[in-house]
Amino acid sequence: MKKLIVLLLAGSLLLFSPNQLLAQVQKIDSALTALYQSGRFNGVVLYAENGKPLLSKTYGVADFQTGKTLNISSPFNLASLTKQFICAGILILYDRGLLQLDDPARKHLPTLPYHEVTIRQLMTHTSGLPEYFDLFNNNRGNADTLNNELLLVMLAQYQPPMQFAAGSSWSYCNTNYVLLASIIEKVSGQRMEEFFKKEIIRPLGLKNTYIFRLPDTVNNPNQVNGFQEENGQRRLNDLTFWDGVVGDGNLFSSAEDLLKWEQQLYKSKIIKPATLAMAFQPVALKIPGRDSSYPYGFGWGIDKPGEQYSHTGGWTGFVNIIMRDVKKNRTLILLSSGSNPAAMITARNWFNGNPVAVKPTRIITNVKVVDGTGTPARNAAVRLEGDKILAVGELQPFPGELVVDGGGKILAPGFIDTHSHLEGSLQPKPQALAALNQGITTIVAGQDGYGSWMDSLEATIKRTAPAINLATYTGHTGLREKVMGENNLHRTATQDELNKMKVLLAAELKKGSLGLSTGLEYEGAWFSSYNEVVELAKVTSFNQGRYISHLRSEDLQLRDAIEEIISIGKEARISVQISHLKIALKNDWKTAPSILARLERARQQGINITADVYPYEFWRSTLKVLFPKTDYTNEASAEFAVTQSLDPAASVLVAFKPRPEYRGKTLSEVAALRKETPARTLMALIAEAEAFRKANPDSGGVEGIMGKSMTDADVSAFLSWQHTNICSDGADGGHPRGYGSFTRVLAEYVREKKIMLLETAINKMTALSAEHVGIRQRGLIAAGYYADLVLLDPDTVQDHATIQNPQALSDGVLKVWVNGELVYANKEFMGKFPGRLIKR
Ligand SMILES: [Zn+2]
Repeated sequence: MKKLIVLLLAGSLLLFSPNQLLAQVQKIDSALTALYQSGRFNGVVLYAENGKPLLSKTYGVADFQTGKTLNISSPFNLASLTKQFICAGILILYDRGLLQLDDPARKHLPTLPYHEVTIRQLMTHTSGLPEYFDLFNNNRGNADTLNNELLLVMLAQYQPPMQFAAGSSWSYCNTNYVLLASIIEKVSGQRMEEFFKKEIIRPLGLKNTYIFRLPDTVNNPNQVNGFQEENGQRRLNDLTFWDGVVGDGNLFSSAEDLLKWEQQLYKSKIIKPATLAMAFQPVALKIPGRDSSYPYGFGWGIDKPGEQYSHTGGWTGFVNIIMRDVKKNRTLILLSSGSNPAAMITARNWFNGNPVAVKPTRIITNVKVVDGTGTPARNAAVRLEGDKILAVGELQPFPGELVVDGGGKILAPGFIDTHSHLEGSLQPKPQALAALNQGITTIVAGQDGYGSWMDSLEATIKRTAPAINLATYTGHTGLREKVMGENNLHRTATQDELNKMKVLLAAELKKGSLGLSTGLEYEGAWFSSYNEVVELAKVTSFNQGRYISHLRSEDLQLRDAIEEIISIGKEARISVQISHLKIALKNDWKTAPSILARLERARQQGINITADVYPYEFWRSTLKVLFPKTDYTNEASAEFAVTQSLDPAASVLVAFKPRPEYRGKTLSEVAALRKETPARTLMALIAEAEAFRKANPDSGGVEGIMGKSMTDADVSAFLSWQHTNICSDGADGGHPRGYGSFTRVLAEYVREKKIMLLETAINKMTALSAEHVGIRQRGLIAAGYYADLVLLDPDTVQDHATIQNPQALSDGVLKVWVNGELVYANKEFMGKFPGRLIKR
């Protein structure tokens, strides 16, 4: 046993046996080759042990325009790998006694308006200075290129506020390093270009290392062009108007030179050993009462103190990394042009001994892409990598790549349903066919004032992941029930209760809830005051959430209810969305234009008010909702309900547990059976349902009605408003909207009635929806977005769900992907459950 331990110890001193080493090097080479072959990497890698290169290889071109190939001495823009060189420059001046690290920066740059910031704080990103990008963007005037001198002038002129007190925290900031370069110039009395040549480049024998800043030019025929990919084509993406500055970037160098540079660091050729040692110490933070530090030294990140250091660099057109393991004297350098970080991440994982797996790509070809922005469909292919979209455009399949032929159909982003009640059935039915059959890949739950708590939702999804994504609002009524008690809601909350609700709400928002939802028309919230709601909306706004509301009235007091939500938006400074906008009062039919005019006026006053709509003329709710004053035994109110709030001959009782035989009958038919007027029947049914509920407290929903109360003129007008997105308000059955809303819009309103273009409708189901509820990285077909997709045929798309058969599947939704997984094809569920909880 003892022997074995000794052997293992001995083995760990040698990093790898020659064979193992070969296998290790082959692993990173084949990963980088796979990334190169699939268009995800163009660059060089250099891996060395004890200064000896064991892998030195190029993949691709130096200049994509001429096709000139890369070599190991091709200079790349180092981006933030520049920072370690700048620190070396400062340390050289320090060794000569020309500056002290704890000198105030202002000692050398007298116009700098920040008195306490020191050179050391600039080197370690603990200065608290603000990033310079916004400062220049907002105040550039006629200046076309930023340079170090201009930045100093702007800092003095505008004095942007500090992020934190100097030395008290760490925050990566490029401004620090532009100032350091200016200090080097000031103290040395030389331009950076000369100083670097004299002090670093020549002494170390670097051949392809130089500073390049606009408007000067350096003519190195091997210099690598930065690029980005757009529509399947490479496009020049190199020096920009930021590139008159030096310090934070803009040193060019090759992998070959970087290895030389890195190896000289061990030998302290240009910097004294004791000075150099400081560069690799974690920076101490000045926090009163406790010792604290951050793992960053002088231009190096500290992975493991005393063992491993690294730095990444990303700038227009370039992604780089350098890693050094000082104990084992291993070095990894990867320089790349393009913007894909996959090779950098792969190389880092490999260097750290973590698994190296290159995700295979897949490509969907032969489709017309309707990308969600509302712009016209275009012929394109879409490449997926894992759960994301990698590229969109005129792409050709790579050899061996999995190809899905879209058959010339429409490929759109997966639909986002901003008002859904499907959450309740996701446990028994995680396949969520109600959503998938109409192309929905994300539902937004927590509507009408009722929702799940984030923690329980997270646990539920972990236990049973659904096929679709889910996001949620936090329900106002849910907060009331928790704080005031379920049977104590017929009043507004006290100040003390309101304070408790605020704390609960803020906690939910921090956990990723999208915002606050209210259902003010329902009994549990009807008695809340405006003040109660607006105070909660303010907490939501403070936490960057949004407000969504089933208004206090959709019929008699619709206009007052709209004024209420506008006021909430104004007073709480919050984006507000009206849920399922409708006019449910016969007398007011066809007044949608005046409602929309009111909403537009509010928008002109700066209130971001939006709405969602489902495409049906009948709603589904409870009988009680027909009594806005909750006077369920008032015959005049009942009479008003059956003449103004719904059409009893076209409104169907879809649930009635006390007398199941009424189910499926219209209110008029039930009244005829009972030999009563519809008004009396309505009152009687509410009383019977209430008695049943009391006798069977666990019976769930006792009654429900599908009320015909809207007119198509209004539905069309609301659907067409440019700030309306589509929702279903649906569940797994009941109202046909649960299975058919989105396909009904595409069939009925786009193809048949032609009230809007397909591209517009899809925008209203995707990007606009995501914007209205605050969901990021979904709702568009664009590189970097999640691969939620739907392939559909606009000629055959058709909803089939009806009151009689509410679960009938739609036609024309050919394939649906969620997070890159194919979950639905040819009306069949594919057995995958890739759905996630989406957080704000
Ligand atoms: Zn509602």
